Amino acid sequence: MKNEQKFRNNMRFSMGFFVTLFIVLMVYMGYSVIKNGAAWYATPYNPRIANARQNINGGAIYDRNGVALAWSEGTTRKYHENKSIRRACSHVVGDIYGKTIGAETTFAKYLYGLEEDVATLLEQILSGEETGGQGQDITLTIDAALSEYIYKKMEGRRGSVVVLNYKTGEILASVSILTFDPITVKTDELEDSALVDRATMGRYPPGSIMKIVTVSAAIEQGLDPTYTCTGSDIIGGQSVTCTKAHGEQNLEEAFANSCNTYFANLSIKLGGSTLKKQAEKFGFNKNFDYSDFTLYRSNFEVSSEEGDIAWAGIGQYNDLITPMHAALMAATIANDGVMPEPRLLKRVDGSEVFHWGLDKSTKVLSQETATAVKQMMGKVVQSGTGTSAAISKSTVYGKTGTAEYMENGEIKNHSWFVGFLGEEHPYAVAVLFEGAGYGSAHAAPVAADIFEYLIG
Ligand SMILES: [Zn+2]
Repeated sequence: MKNEQKFRNNMRFSMGFFVTLFIVLMVYMGYSVIKNGAAWYATPYNPRIANARQNINGGAIYDRNGVALAWSEGTTRKYHENKSIRRACSHVVGDIYGKTIGAETTFAKYLYGLEEDVATLLEQILSGEETGGQGQDITLTIDAALSEYIYKKMEGRRGSVVVLNYKTGEILASVSILTFDPITVKTDELEDSALVDRATMGRYPPGSIMKIVTVSAAIEQGLDPTYTCTGSDIIGGQSVTCTKAHGEQNLEEAFANSCNTYFANLSIKLGGSTLKKQAEKFGFNKNFDYSDFTLYRSNFEVSSEEGDIAWAGIGQYNDLITPMHAALMAATIANDGVMPEPRLLKRVDGSEVFHWGLDKSTKVLSQETATAVKQMMGKVVQSGTGTSAAISKSTVYGKTGTAEYMENGEIKNHSWFVGFLGEEHPYAVAVLFEGAGYGSAHAAPVAADIFEYLIG
C-alpha cells in the first residue's frame, strides 16, 4: 500500500512537471510568434508572398497625405507617375521581385491578403482553398513630397537623410542614394549598393556626432574639466588633432567647437567602461527589434589602450552607426531622454494601426541630462560648428560630424549633421553624405533647408 501511494505521488509529481513544462513551452512559442512572427514572415524569400502576388489584387501603398505610391491593376503593379518621387521613396516602398526589403515585403501580409485570423487560416488549410481576391491598402508615415524635396537636395551625392517626428516616432522621410526605380529595377543595370537602404543598413563611423553620447556621460558624472587645446595632443601614443587651436575650453565650449583634443582627454577621464555603458544606453551593440522594419546594429567597442578609448569617445576607432540610429539619437535628446520607436506603418485599410502594447520606446537619459545636452546642441548651431544649420523662423539644435575613413588607401571624410527643432515643430533629422568633407560645410546647410521646408 505504502509503495502504491508513493508511486501515485511520483506520478502526480511527474505529470505536474510535464504539464508545467508544456505550458512554459506553449507560452514561449506564443511569445516568439508575437515577437518575431512578422520578421520571420517578412523575408523576400517567403514563397507564399511571391505566390500571393500572382493571385491577389495587391493593396495600395499611400503616403501620409494620401498620395498613392504603389497599387495594382490586375496583376500589374503600378507606381507614382513622377520618377523622382518613385526613386526618392523606393527603399521605403520596396519592390515586388524580392530584391529589397521595403513595405512591399514587410507589410505583404496586409497588401496581399495574408493577414488572416487563425480560424480562417485553419479553414483554408482544411478545405485546401487558397486565398484570393483583394489585399488591404496601407498608409505609411512618410511624406512623398518631402522625400522628393530631399532627393533633389541630395543630387550628385551618395548618402542618406532621415526625418522623424520625435514625439510619435513617425518616419516622415527616409531617403537613400544610390537608389532605383521600382518600375525598371528588374531590368536596370544597377550598381550593387543601389539596392542597399543606407538609412537602415548603412553603417558609418559617426565622427563627432558621437560626442552627444560622450557629453551626456560627462554630465551624468558631473565632469566639466577645463583644458587648453593647442590643436593637437598625443594620447596613449596616438596623435589626436583639431582643425585649429581652440585655446582654453570648458565642456560646453568644447562641444560647440567640436574640440577633439578636449573630448579625447574627457573620454580617458570617463573611462572605457563608462563610455561603453553610455553608448549601449543609446542602443549601440544592440539588436533593434522594431515592429515596422529591420534596423542594422550599431557598434561601439573599447580596448584597454588609452588611444583607442580616446578615439572611440570622438566617434572613430570601431564606432559604427546607421543614419536612422543617428536620427534616433537626436530624437532622444529632443524628446526629454526617451528614444521613440520609429514607425513606418500608419494605417491599414483606413484604421490607425494599434500597436497592442508592443511599443519599444526606451528611456535613455534623465530629463535633466537631456535638457543639458539640448542646450549645448543649441550653442553648436548658435555659435559653434553648426551655424550653417540655423534658420530664421525657429531655434535649431544640432551636432556636426566629420568622420574619417579609408578608401583605396586615402583618408576621406563623411559629412554628418544631426539635429532637431523645438517642440512646436517636433522634427529630428540626420543627414549623412558619403565622402563629402566637413559636416559643417555640407550636411548642416541641407538640414537647414529641410527644417525650413518642414516649418513651411
Ligand atoms: Zn580643439
